[in-house]
Amino acid sequence: MSARSLNVAATRIGTEALGPGVRSVLWVQGCPFRCPGCMSPDWIPERAARRAEARELAAELLSDPRVDGLTFSGGEPMLQAAGLAEVARLARQVREISLICFTGYRLEQLRSRPPSPGVPDLLAAVDVLIDGRYVAALDDGRGLRGSSNQRVHHLTRRLARCGYDFDGRPRTAEIALSGPEALLIGVPPTGLLAAFDTAVDTVRDTTSPGREQHHER
Ligand code: SF4
Repeated sequence: MSARSLNVAATRIGTEALGPGVRSVLWVQGCPFRCPGCMSPDWIPERAARRAEARELAAELLSDPRVDGLTFSGGEPMLQAAGLAEVARLARQVREISLICFTGYRLEQLRSRPPSPGVPDLLAAVDVLIDGRYVAALDDGRGLRGSSNQRVHHLTRRLARCGYDFDGRPRTAEIALSGPEALLIGVPPTGLLAAFDTAVDTVRDTTSPGREQHHER
């Protein structure tokens, strides 16, 4: 896989569930962490998913003219940092977008011991970095971060004064149906994940073929 080629778990064009404004989201496949209670366990295995070039992804993510920001999540974005940095660079050639990125690494480690060669380039492009592993016992049901140990770093001032409370805002999530798949997008409010699982299991039991479910943050 070249530096500009990515292993993509999913994309979502035009959502209001993962940051301020209307955003497109790119989830990468593969994560070295195995946080108990991870919202997107399907994206943890280091397996081949959708292979796509950065240029193709940048065009796809901006295909909705309302989109004014991108969010990178996963999986672990920092393991595909070079490709994601290229997606951000190409997108900004077309439109002035903000960039939010989730990572299970701590910012200090990303700076001192980057886990892949493109990390400095991606950090240079990111406006808001949400760092640290998810800890279910510290999930307080608030904010865009999944648990209170995770930190919101404004690496630029671009989203610092937009009025969006990354740490304390009430959570929202979207459910999207796409063919046989049901996608839950966003950091879900308390109880929604279990209700979503129950609803999908009920539909699966009563329909054929069954609906696959994914939780995405
Ligand atoms: S919560 Fe995030 S860092 Fe933890 S296993 Fe899931 S994708 Fe990886």
